[in-house]
Amino acid sequence: MTHVVILGAGIAGVTAAYALKSKLGPRDEVTVVSDQPYFHFVPSNPWVAMGWRERSDIAFPIGPYLESRGIKFIHSGVKRIQPEGIQVDLENGDVLFYDMLLIATGATGLAEEVPGLAEHTQSVIHIDQAERALTAYRQFVRKPGAIVIGAAPGASVLGPIYEYAFLIDADLKRRNIRERVSITVVTPEPWPGHLGLGYEGASRGAVTAALVDTKISAICNAVTTRIDKDTIHVSELNAAGGVKETHALPFSYSVYWPAFGGVPGVRSAAGLVNERGLVVVDEYLRNPDYPNVFALGACVAQPPAAKTLVPVGAPDSVYSIQKAGEIVVQNILAMINDEPLTSHVPQRAKWLTDMGNTGAAYLSEPQVPLRDINWMRQGRWVHQAKIDFEKYFINRIRLQAMAQAPSAASRIAGVMSRGAGDAQASSAASSGKPLEIRLPQDPGIELRALARSLAREPDALAAELLAAAVSDAKSYLSESGVEALALARRELLVEELPERQPGVEFHGGGT
Ligand SMILES: Cc1cc2nc3c(=O)[nH]c(=O)nc-3n(C[C@H](O)[C@H](O)[C@H](O)COP(=O)(O)OP(=O)(O)OC[C@H]3O[C@@H](n4cnc5c(N)ncnc54)[C@H](O)[C@@H]3O)c2cc1C
Repeated sequence: MTHVVILGAGIAGVTAAYALKSKLGPRDEVTVVSDQPYFHFVPSNPWVAMGWRERSDIAFPIGPYLESRGIKFIHSGVKRIQPEGIQVDLENGDVLFYDMLLIATGATGLAEEVPGLAEHTQSVIHIDQAERALTAYRQFVRKPGAIVIGAAPGASVLGPIYEYAFLIDADLKRRNIRERVSITVVTPEPWPGHLGLGYEGASRGAVTAALVDTKISAICNAVTTRIDKDTIHVSELNAAGGVKETHALPFSYSVYWPAFGGVPGVRSAAGLVNERGLVVVDEYLRNPDYPNVFALGACVAQPPAAKTLVPVGAPDSVYSIQKAGEIVVQNILAMINDEPLTSHVPQRAKWLTDMGNTGAAYLSEPQVPLRDINWMRQGRWVHQAKIDFEKYFINRIRLQAMAQAPSAASRIAGVMSRGAGDAQASSAASSGKPLEIRLPQDPGIELRALARSLAREPDALAAELLAAAVSDAKSYLSESGVEALALARRELLVEELPERQPGVEFHGGGT
């Protein structure tokens, strides 16, 4: 029997746990440990901070979903990792021994590196912080002033700072107060849209143009030196690395990205982590000194993709995490079976940025030099695709294991399974055979009565009920059924494009 312990129940930890459990033998065990009892979809945090998503839309208890697949879940923080003793000590007093360890605890912001950052600015890295940012934002809109959205030297994953700036712009326009607010982006990048990718591509011109269109100013090559209660102090560097200009930016509301570091409990794991507490891995995504310790996701120490005047951390995305996850799972299985390991080729970026009503998609794969490796497209379809990906990813995590579907909470389950199992339903869909649903009586009568009793408008109620039923029905589909549904949905999206855009494709990754 092999015991695989996974630390962290986020995007990296949960997807790896599902994949490993399905591929390991029946007597092998997978245990997931997390300091929070819930999964939350981090890419939607900027929407939470705008009040466009509720916590309940993107966060839910993860234990039941893991356990339904035979994966043990322990809700506790990690206290200490002792790779010499192949053990992990947990905050709740438990000690776990492992054969294979996968660290997937994400990152924490090293806010202390910039004096005043933690005290005077907001963050959206974690859902709790995004909720606090929303409270502060709601106070701000009552008395609008200047907004600064910034990133400290060494910050990684810079796509969301632009996304957040564009969301604020869209929201202020909806509130009709945009003219009363100045928005400034402060970034260590050498130009807007560099994103830590390391070369000048389509994103520079497109992001710069989008900033001009939305009247958002940007300070690049920026070292944020100190943040006071109402002023942000920035040194802008020149090409020689000297100070070109200093800025004292007054602000009423600010969201900042600190540099990323390892979470407590992992940060202290001597021999496993770098000076920022991020886990050091080799080309096989395992620690060079402890070959039975792997790492995945935002907790991994990644060298910067490019040398810049002010340090800029490497980009990260759901797509790249999923790609790396496939390699981690393959390599853990290979080690167990004494087979050769597979090297990991980093995927730089495949990213959708929401801009309120529209959005921008980046694709950048420097490791494939002969292809169209660095493009950016904008359009309303990106906004829709980003919403779609959020639903798709959350549904995938919430899928019950086939054999352990919950008792039917809804009659939809009965309709879906009538005369066909999950697998048949999905194959019927793909073979074009319509799913026949017979209703006992004209549903319009019941609907109108229901609408009247709820004092609602029947058409609006019908639309909401249909959306709820589709979402409910999806939870009873098998994994391949949900994949087929997502594919059909994406095909519809592409058909809706004003002009077909060759090269636009979503492989179930990259949001
Ligand atoms: C604001 C923001 C927006 C982003 N937007 C996008 C986007 O639009 N598209 C995209 O592709 N990528 C985006 N990313 C990048 C990337 O997708 C996310 O960072 C992703 O969530 C990383 O996944 P992860 O599993 O490594 O970490 P996380 O999702 O953060 O999960 C970490 C897990 O570890 C647990 N944990 C933490 N500390 C401990 C501890 N001490 N003990 C035990 N468990 C612990 C946490 O509770 C959590 O379960 C965004 C990142 C951020 C920060």
